[in-house]
Amino acid sequence: MEKKEFKAESKRLLDLMINSIYTNKEIFLRELISNASDAIDKIYYKALTDDNIVFNKNDYYIKVIPNKENRTLTISDTGIGMTKEELDNNLGIIANSGSYAFKKENEIKDGYDIIGQFGVGFYSAFMVADKVTVISKALGSDKAYKWESEGVDGYTIEEVEKDNVGTDIILRIKKNTEDEEYDDYLDTYTLKSIVRKYSDFIRYPIKMDIKSRKLKEGTESEYEDVYEEKTINSMVPIWRKNKNELKDENYANFYSEKHFGFDKPLRHIHLSVDGAVRYNAILYIPSEMPFNFYTKDYEKGLELYSSGVLIMDKCGDLLPDYFGFVKGVVDSEDLSLNISREILQHDRQLKLIAKKIRDKIKDELSLLLKNEREKYEEFFDVFGKQLKYGIYQEFGTNKEILQDLLLFYSSKDMKLVTLDEYVSRMKEDQKYIYYASGESLDRVDKLPQVEFMKDKGYEVLYFIDEIDEFAIKVLHCYKDKEFKSVSSSDLDVEESEEKEDTKSEEKSKLVEAMKDLLAGKVKEVKISNRLKNHPVYLSTEGEISIEMEKVLNQMPNGGNIKAEKILEINGNHKVIEKLMEAYESDAEKLDLYTNLLYNQALLIEGLPIDDPVEFTNNIWKLL
Ligand code: ADP
Ligand code: MG
Repeated sequence: MEKKEFKAESKRLLDLMINSIYTNKEIFLRELISNASDAIDKIYYKALTDDNIVFNKNDYYIKVIPNKENRTLTISDTGIGMTKEELDNNLGIIANSGSYAFKKENEIKDGYDIIGQFGVGFYSAFMVADKVTVISKALGSDKAYKWESEGVDGYTIEEVEKDNVGTDIILRIKKNTEDEEYDDYLDTYTLKSIVRKYSDFIRYPIKMDIKSRKLKEGTESEYEDVYEEKTINSMVPIWRKNKNELKDENYANFYSEKHFGFDKPLRHIHLSVDGAVRYNAILYIPSEMPFNFYTKDYEKGLELYSSGVLIMDKCGDLLPDYFGFVKGVVDSEDLSLNISREILQHDRQLKLIAKKIRDKIKDELSLLLKNEREKYEEFFDVFGKQLKYGIYQEFGTNKEILQDLLLFYSSKDMKLVTLDEYVSRMKEDQKYIYYASGESLDRVDKLPQVEFMKDKGYEVLYFIDEIDEFAIKVLHCYKDKEFKSVSSSDLDVEESEEKEDTKSEEKSKLVEAMKDLLAGKVKEVKISNRLKNHPVYLSTEGEISIEMEKVLNQMPNGGNIKAEKILEINGNHKVIEKLMEAYESDAEKLDLYTNLLYNQALLIEGLPIDDPVEFTNNIWKLL
C-alpha cells in the first residue's frame, strides 16, 4: 500500500481564509501586532538561556506607520525576524505556525505567553491590502530578505538590504469600495483606536507618529504641524499588577477609562486565580444604574482577554442575568480559542470562570450587607430589583445564591430587613412569614389586615415592587417558613374571641343575601373579627392575590385573571347593625349598602371600582 499525503488547494484555502474566517476587517491589525509581539517575546526567551543575547527592554518596540500618499501601512518590529527558510515556511504554508513550534521547542511554561498558535492570522492582512511585503532580518543572520505577495497568485522571495534585526510588514491598502472604507486604515486616529481596542495590553510599546499643532519657533502666532513619536498602548494591564500596589483611585480610573460608567464604582473585586483555569479579573459593582440598562441596547458581559489581547468586548456568558449590571475584564491564558480568535472553542473553562465570578460577586455583596449596611441599602435601592428577578428567573434555581441578599421593608419601623432578620425575631409559635402588597409603603401600612396583624404583634413585610410577590412565590419558603399574604383567608392567627351572638342566625342569612347581590364579584361574604376600625375589606383564597391580579392584568396576555375575593365585614362595627336593619326592612337599601361597601373595599385595595358613575350616584342617593 502506498500512503499519500493530503494536498490542499492552497489558492482556494487562502481565499477561504481571507474572506470567511473573520467577521471584522479591523482585526488584521491585532493579528500583525500580536505577531510582532511574539517576535519580540522570542528574543526575550532566547536571552534567558543564551548569554550572548542581552534583552534590554528599551530596544524593543513595534511601530505603526501609515502613509496616505503611497497608500501603505507598515507594521515594523525589532523582534527576532525571519530567515529565508522561515519566510518560506511560516508565510508560505497556510496553517504553519512558527510561534507554536517555538513554544513547543522552548517548553514555555511560566511568564509570558506567546500569542500565535494557528498559523493563519498573518493572512488577515489580505482583507485590507492587495499587496503585502515582508522585509525581515533574523537574529544572528547578516542577510535580509523580502517576501512579497499579491494574494492567491503566490509569493516571491529575494535578498534585500536591511540594517537592523526585525521585520517590516508593508501593506498596500485597497481602494475604497461601495461597502468598505479602506482609507480608514491609513488614518492615524482610526489606527490608534484600533490599537487601543485590541492591543492595549501588548507588553511592548506600540509607537506611532502623532500629529499636533504647535507654535512655530520664533513666532508668536504661526502654527505648524509637528509629528511626535508616541507610545499608544498602556502595556501593563492593571489586572496583572499586584493588588498591594493599587489604590481605589487606580481602579476607579480604569473604570472610567474603559467607559464602564460615568459613576464611581461602588466596589471592585480583583481576582488572580491560579487553579484549574488560570485567570485574572477585575469586576466592578457600579453605584448607579447604567443609563441604558432597561433598553434593548444594553448588553451584559465582561471584556474577555486571552494573554492580554482582546477577544470579546462583551462576553455575556461570564455573568448571570441577575448580575448583569456588573462590569469588568477577565484575562486568561487557558481559553481554547477558535481559529479566528473571536470566539471560544470549548466553554468548559469559561463555565468554571463564570461560576467563580458569580460566587465572588455574591460574597462581596454579602460582606457589604454585613459590614456596611447603609452602603448595601444604597446598592439595593438601585439593583435590588435585579436580584429579585434573579430569583424568579430560571425556575428558581438561583434561590440559594440570592435569597440572603434580599431586603424588604417591614412593619417594624418601616425599615429594610433581611429574611434572616425577620425569621430570627418571629414569635414563638409563628408558622408563616407574613407579607402585604401594595403600591406604596404608606398604603400598605394602612391596610386593614396589616393593622390587624400589627395589633396582634406580628411583623409584616411590605411588598411594594411588582416583582416581589412573584419572587416570593418562587422562593416559597425561607428557612422552612412559608410566606403568607396577610390577605389570605387562613392566616393561622388567633382572632378575637367570638362574642355570644344572639343574632347569629339572622346574620348568616344577611351574609347569604349579600353574596347573592354580589354574585360574580366575590366568592363569599363573611363576618370577620379581624378588623379593627375598618368596616370591610377583601381577602383572597388560592394562589392569586389582589396585587398579582393587578400586575397580570397589565400584561398583554394576562387579562382576566382574577383573584378569588372574599368580602369580609367587621362584626364589631356599627355598619353591621345598619345592614341588619336594611336586610329586615328594605331590600333596595341593602342592595345599595352592599354595593357601596364592596366598592369601598376595592378602593382600599387600590383596585378600580366597577362602575364609578353608579358608585357616585349611590353616594348621592344616600346623602
Ligand atoms: P500564528 O501567529 O498563529 O503562528 P500567523 O499566520 O499570524 O500565525 O503567523 C505565522 C508565522 O509567521 C508565525 O508563527 C511566526 O513564526 C511568523 N511571523 C509572522 N509575523 C512575524 C513577525 N513579525 N516576526 C517574526 N515572525 C513572524
Ligand atoms: Mg499570529
